[in-house]
Amino acid sequence: MIDQYGTGREKMVREQLLSRDIVDERTLAAMAEVPRHLFVDDAMRAKAYGDHPLPIGAGQTISQPYIVAFMTQALHLQGDEKVLEVGTGSGYQAAVLSRLCKKVFTVERVNSLLAGARKVFDQLRYYNIRSKLDDGTLGWPDNGPYDAIIVTAGGPDIPEPLTAQLADPGRLVMPIGDQHVQELKLFIKREGLVEVINLASVRFVDLVGAYGWRG
Ligand code: SAH
Repeated sequence: MIDQYGTGREKMVREQLLSRDIVDERTLAAMAEVPRHLFVDDAMRAKAYGDHPLPIGAGQTISQPYIVAFMTQALHLQGDEKVLEVGTGSGYQAAVLSRLCKKVFTVERVNSLLAGARKVFDQLRYYNIRSKLDDGTLGWPDNGPYDAIIVTAGGPDIPEPLTAQLADPGRLVMPIGDQHVQELKLFIKREGLVEVINLASVRFVDLVGAYGWRG
């Protein structure tokens, strides 16, 4: 299959990622590989590689490519990890992660979004992604602990079940703040201690659930 979007994707990697602070070779390779245009509506395909988020339906958005790469890079994946994502959305972030670790578990609370994401995972044969419809603030206890956890919606604090399901050593990245602006935080668990690093000021859609905002 000829990938007519390949040029747009290369340009995205060069102008939005390499030119900023995305230096991890594996992250760059995954961003160059995953066909982002398949994760948005037909009508939006031409804009898929632009330097901005895009609407994906149900009032949700697919993050800007740079943010996806930045959060991915922060997890320091080597290839053997089990990763949990909260907020499947379009499925794009899970797809990028799936190229960089052993297995991705992703949870989404909106059925229509999950169904759309699953279709694309199948189409691309990304068979190391497992997904389920649920409140992801509860994590996915059956498959934990996870070497890395990524929350792609903003909440008031880390959901406690996620702290419990993070392996030691483990890394968790999540936007934390109010419903307008958040700080993207990286939690590094090591020998029972957790270090917190503020990465950037960001704007994400709401994390809605038992340990998030009320729906
Ligand atoms: N990672 C996605 C970003 C989607 S936006 C992508 O690459 O496209 C955030 C998503 O989190 C939305 O789809 C929203 O429905 C979902 N979400 C919000 N609260 C959630 C919760 N408690 N559990 C699971 N998903 C949640």
